[in-house]
Amino acid sequence: QAKAKGKACYQMFDSTMHHRALTNLQLEIDLRKALERNEFVVYYQPIISLMTNQIVGFEALVRWLHPQEGLIPPIKFIPIAEETGLIMAIDLCVMRQACLQLRNWQKEGLADKSLTISVNLSVKHFVSFNLLQQIDTILAETGLDGQNLKLEITESDIMKNPEFASQIIVQLKNQQIQFIVDDFGTGYSSLSYLHRLPIDTLKIDRSFIMRIGNKGENIGIIQAIMALANSLGMNAIAEGVETLEQLEPIKRLNCQFCQGFLFSRPLEAEAVRKVLATGL
Ligand code: C2E
Ligand code: MG
Ligand code: MG
Ligand code: MG
Repeated sequence: QAKAKGKACYQMFDSTMHHRALTNLQLEIDLRKALERNEFVVYYQPIISLMTNQIVGFEALVRWLHPQEGLIPPIKFIPIAEETGLIMAIDLCVMRQACLQLRNWQKEGLADKSLTISVNLSVKHFVSFNLLQQIDTILAETGLDGQNLKLEITESDIMKNPEFASQIIVQLKNQQIQFIVDDFGTGYSSLSYLHRLPIDTLKIDRSFIMRIGNKGENIGIIQAIMALANSLGMNAIAEGVETLEQLEPIKRLNCQFCQGFLFSRPLEAEAVRKVLATGL
């Protein structure tokens, strides 16, 4: 009885795994097609200066405009894209679109010369040997200045290989490209590395913002990250700010920048044009 049951369990597990492998394979094939057909679109979420209340930049966030399924969020395809290495092509496609877009807004007189675009990079990409050259090519092709581009990589990805990460960050810095540590506070940073890296901005993970209570409780970690950022000469962005109750303590702690649904959701390029022309 027990043995039979054990076997049934085993078979069920096996068939689930088989099913998952098939689904992933299909997804991989679909992702390749999506790249060929240019189905990846970029949304732009405003980043606001808490000193001036002005938009200082945008984060580029990818979506997959699937011909049948509609708009698919990154959580549904980034993991497989990372596993299969397709993420590199997707990241570059997003970077190219975003740089071109900002350059066009500049040409149209909509974007101030200091407005920046932040692009997310997966760790696979970050450690690939020709990243710097690929970025150079995109900047040359689109005509965007290095100082208008920022790169975001998660804290946990940096700490997978901090020695290598430092080398890349230094080289990027030489091209005036700024560097943001994404999801900061969740990646167990080694402080001995952090203080040596020429990082411009720590992006405080949304989980800490979510925990702020209605009366501004639970801000200990945010306070600690702000103290760290200040002492290292870095800026901070609070990510995922949804309410005024969350904004208040963030402002009080002198966090420089803010991003979240309270100000704006990620927008299509056309909607950004309006926001740049008339404000949020
Ligand atoms: P992330 O880089 O940490 O981006 C922030 C995510 O938080 C975005 O989700 C954004 O829409 C969401 N968000 C911003 N403000 C709020 C808020 O107030 N409330 C809530 N609930 N959410 C907020 P999204 O666009 O679904 O992206 C999820 C993740 O997918 C990103 O997290 C990033 O890790 C990854 N991703 C997105 N685009 C790319 C890309 O082009 N390349 C790579 N490698 N990863 C990307
Ligand atoms: Mg990000
Ligand atoms: Mg983040
Ligand atoms: Mg994230």
